[in-house]
Amino acid sequence: MATTLPSPPRVGMVSLGCPKNLVDSERILTQLRADGYQMSADYAGADVVLVNTCGFLDSAKEESLEAIGEAIAENGRVIVTGCMGKEAEVIRARFPQVLAISGAHEYEQVVEAVHEAAPPGLSPYIDLIPDAGLKLTPRHYSYLKISEGCNHRCAFCIIPQLRGDLASRRPDAILREAEKLLAAGTKELLVISQDTSAYGIDIRGETRSWKGREVRPHMTDLARELGQLRTPQGEQPWVRLHYVYPYPHVDQVIPLMAEGLVLPYLDIPFQHASPAVLRAMKRPANDARVLQRIRGWREVCPDIAIRSTFVVGFPGETEEEFRYLLEWLEEARLDRVGAFRFEPVEGASANSLPNPVPEAVKEERYARVMELTARISAEKLAARVGRTIEVLVDAVDPETGGATGRSKADAPEIDGEVHLRDAGHLAAGDFARVLVEESDEHDLYGVPA
Ligand code: SF4
Repeated sequence: MATTLPSPPRVGMVSLGCPKNLVDSERILTQLRADGYQMSADYAGADVVLVNTCGFLDSAKEESLEAIGEAIAENGRVIVTGCMGKEAEVIRARFPQVLAISGAHEYEQVVEAVHEAAPPGLSPYIDLIPDAGLKLTPRHYSYLKISEGCNHRCAFCIIPQLRGDLASRRPDAILREAEKLLAAGTKELLVISQDTSAYGIDIRGETRSWKGREVRPHMTDLARELGQLRTPQGEQPWVRLHYVYPYPHVDQVIPLMAEGLVLPYLDIPFQHASPAVLRAMKRPANDARVLQRIRGWREVCPDIAIRSTFVVGFPGETEEEFRYLLEWLEEARLDRVGAFRFEPVEGASANSLPNPVPEAVKEERYARVMELTARISAEKLAARVGRTIEVLVDAVDPETGGATGRSKADAPEIDGEVHLRDAGHLAAGDFARVLVEESDEHDLYGVPA
């Protein structure tokens, strides 16, 4: 049975007045798109309607009031922003049912009002940030979204249908946001998108100036600049790259890891290894020489940690193709692996592929992948016992003096942890040198050095 995803809320927009107002409308809509909203071209399909008003002349005010009246009559759930927001009492006197009123350029207030009127609703199928992560992300790490949407059409995925094609943010805007996050206490920037390696291909040539340097909208330029930012205390933040597809230019990022500008960590969703299954999945950057590339990356940056996810039981996956995946995993020796049993999502083209894999076979394959990858993970972690590593502390228990943190190889929520003893003097957000004393399948155990 296909999983039906909740459809994202839809926002209608009526933009009145001058080009400046139009730019404001675009900014608001861009933010709402990034937050997962869809746009509605008509009143009927909208969960909420925004009216961006003009108050320059009396005639413009009257036009604005008429537009608000029309939106209320046609839809009923209306948020008003723009120049007429200065005259909130005039609007309220005529339309007491208006949900919220804000003035020109008050983007945050409008976006907040939309969130309140029609909550964005997260889905584990389409949201990069874990549901709980949104509320629980502590101050010392932050997700930094560099683009929205995706140009690929993987057979099992409906993100391009929901979020549209790739839309990259300007590199200087991303860097400015990163700087603000650091000023607010962030120590680790988690770079996210649907396809981080594709960042900027839609705005190629739109080089921007940042601190006197030219920055191209390209993954390597962005990674280098992020690696040069500092916290207000002069510390170098951790920069972690997620959702990287193995396009050829990813090779240029590995030296930045070796130099210490970005963390030696690559989150690459390979999803499978068998060329036939990857073709059926319509995966991008599906190059049969990936193992060779991984070897090359490890030569340049021996400490690199590679995490990936795989789908087992994709329609048509034969036992032979599955074994190919197991052998590939044995050879690739990835540090962290997440596996999923294929599940049809409503609207995905994979649903109509022939030869679905029976549930029992999916289960059995899933168990085999998990067993193999847990063994590899345990072996790799055991090799770190006796080493001193850098850890970012996530939480401290003052009563027991214990703490948990993560090494450079561990992203929050999805990878392992480092459990510390005798660490009561540390605080969340501290970087600490830690002597690793023990390990298991997923985690390390140690003591501040
Ligand atoms: S790369 Fe494929 S799986 Fe990832 S968002 Fe794009 S279409 Fe979906």
